[in-house]
Parts: sequence; C-alpha cells; structure tokens
Amino acid sequence: MMPAFWKRGLQGSLVIFPLLTTTAFAATITIINNDGPNEGFNDPTPVTPVDGNPGTTLGEQRLNAAQAAADAWGAVLKSDVEIRISMTFDDLYCSSTGATLGQAGPTTVHRDFSNAPLNNTWYVQALANSLAGTDLEPAYADISAQFNSALDSDPTCLGGMSWWYGIDSSAPTGMVDFYPVLLHEIAHGLGFMTLVDTSNGSKFYNYDDAFMVHLEDHSQGMNWPDMTDAGRQASATDTGDLHWTGTNALGNASLLTDGISGGHIKMYAPSALELGSSVSHWDLSITPDEVMEAYATAEAHDLITFRLMQDIGWNISGPSMGMGVCDGSNVNYSGPDIAASEIVICDLDDGTFSNTTVFGDLTIRASNHVGFMDTFSVAGTLSVQMTSP
Ligand SMILES: [Zn+2]
Ligand SMILES: [Zn+2]
Repeated sequence: MMPAFWKRGLQGSLVIFPLLTTTAFAATITIINNDGPNEGFNDPTPVTPVDGNPGTTLGEQRLNAAQAAADAWGAVLKSDVEIRISMTFDDLYCSSTGATLGQAGPTTVHRDFSNAPLNNTWYVQALANSLAGTDLEPAYADISAQFNSALDSDPTCLGGMSWWYGIDSSAPTGMVDFYPVLLHEIAHGLGFMTLVDTSNGSKFYNYDDAFMVHLEDHSQGMNWPDMTDAGRQASATDTGDLHWTGTNALGNASLLTDGISGGHIKMYAPSALELGSSVSHWDLSITPDEVMEAYATAEAHDLITFRLMQDIGWNISGPSMGMGVCDGSNVNYSGPDIAASEIVICDLDDGTFSNTTVFGDLTIRASNHVGFMDTFSVAGTLSVQMTSP
C-alpha cells in the first residue's frame, strides 16, 4: 500500500460562470469543515441569501456552495467509499491584480493496492479507495483544500472584488464565482494532476502516476513514463507539444473546435514553468473553454474533463457537469453537439435550439419561452422546467 503523504498548492484563477447543479449522487463526497470558531466556514457574519444559496451567514453560504460542488462531482463519479474533503478558508496570496483563489490536492497517494489498474503506479487516495473498494487511509481525509478568505476580508484584494456564493447563477460584475473554483480544486484532489516534480522532471518516489501515464510529448515522440527526468522537464515547457492521449478524453475531442494537435489534446505547458499549474491543466487554447484550464474563463465547460477522470481510472456514472453549454438571457443555441450523458441546465428567458444532437439527457430551465427546431434532437430524456420570470 505504501501511503505517501503529499500536498501541494494548485492555483485556480479568475471568473467562470456556474450554470448548474446535479442531484443524483453515485459517490458520496463529504466536506469536513476544519476552520476554527467564528472564521472561514464558521464565519457568523449575517448575509442575504443569494441565488441557489439560502445561507444566512457567510460561513453557511460557503459550506452550501462547497457541498453543492461536492455533490456535482458525486453525481459524475462512482465510488462505494465515502470521499472526504478537508476544507478551510485562509489568508492566501492576493494583490490588487492577482490572487490564489484556492488550492487543493490529495492528502495521500497509493500504489499496488488490491484492484489497482496499473502496477507500480501512484493513485490519489479518493481514486485508490474507489478502485480498492475500501478506505486505504481512514486516518486522513482524501483531499485537502484551502480557499482565499482575503477576497472577503481585504478591501485591496483584487481591487475590491469579493466572493460570490450564488450557485444557480453567475457572479455580478466585481465578484468572483466561488462554485466553479470549488469544482476546479476538487478535481485536482480527485486526481487531475501529476505527481511528477515538474521543476526537474523526477517521478514521485521513482514511480509513475495515473495522470502522467497519459501524457505525451509530441515533438519528442515519447510518452512521459518512458522519458528521462530531463526529457520530462523539457516537455513541461514544450508549448503546444505536451499532449493528453487518454482514449476517453480523445473520444470527446471532436466536441472541441481548438486545442487539438496531431490528434491529441494540448496540455498547459507555458515556456516559463509555472509550478503547480504547468502540466496539470488543459491548455488555454481549448475551445470551448474547460473548467480545468489553468486560468478560469467566462464560460467553463466539462466536455473532456470528466472523460480525463475516466482515463486516470475513475468509474463514471455520468452525467458530466455540463457547465456552460448554454447560458444568457436570450440564447439561440446551434451546436456543437453535446456529449453523451450530459445534463445541461440553462437559465434562459428565451431560447431556441437547433442543429444539435444531445447524446444523453438534457434539462433546460427557462422563465419564458424555449423553442426546439426539428434539427435538434435529444437521445435521452428531455426535461424543460419553466420558472417564474
Ligand atoms: Zn488548477
Ligand atoms: Zn500528441
């Protein structure tokens, strides 16, 4: 079993728009609030409930958003073992122009456990537990995550931007969406990251990890496990040539309109190494934007991220989180096709859907009018929820 204790900061970034929550859970993900009395997730400051978040204190709203994001991942992934995430709010780096919004990682990693898909390969605890069918390290939460309290407490942080704790709608101007940052950081803790030390290319205690076995350097013509430390170190900054080759993610690559090269999906490899960001994110060129890009974007999708989770070993119950396939007050949605088993909830005043195939279920929430052209088809269940305008 060889647990190794490991934690590293991974930086999420600025504004992305949350669009939906899902409600069927195939894995139970529990938030462990590790903040002290009257701070962080226990902050008693009274607040007004916001969209999708009925909390009446700052701490309650933070916890509600965290549990909603945990539930969204719990609907995507299958595990018979409870996934536990230790969370705190702390003063992290923030200047007037940039901030660490959150950071998260696995608390332990494991190899050569019962049912491990690959021998001699590290798996993060939550994934290892799900594969082994038992908690391999019950003394430790699976994931540790920290979020930046400075946004709410320091008026100079990001020029005065503060967190938005709404779950069903995106942040007003001047606020930063917490929910998609949660989705992003939890994904890192669930294994969307390499354990390779990208500063020197060395493997973690000389073993491969479940993420890096799917990395390829296209110009070197080699996969990461077979490369030297120096080769991996060079690959981490080989912009455009560091690729994901996992078959599940590649199976959805046709949904992308940019970010593909040589039949593979580009990973983030800026020419100047960014520790904790390089390699462990999708490239910024991925279009439509994905939730696991290195920098958050206005509209974050999950067309390939949940498939990457499958590549590293997760059993997927589907649906994906389907973020951002459509949004806005008046939408005329016309392609791209929507991935299999995807749920999309759109808050629309008025929408028209055409020229699109949805391979799984589709849920649309609208307040006024939704039109479907006969060029629009849904293979699964179509559900339209009308809400009060
Ligand atoms: Zn990240
Ligand atoms: Zn390639």
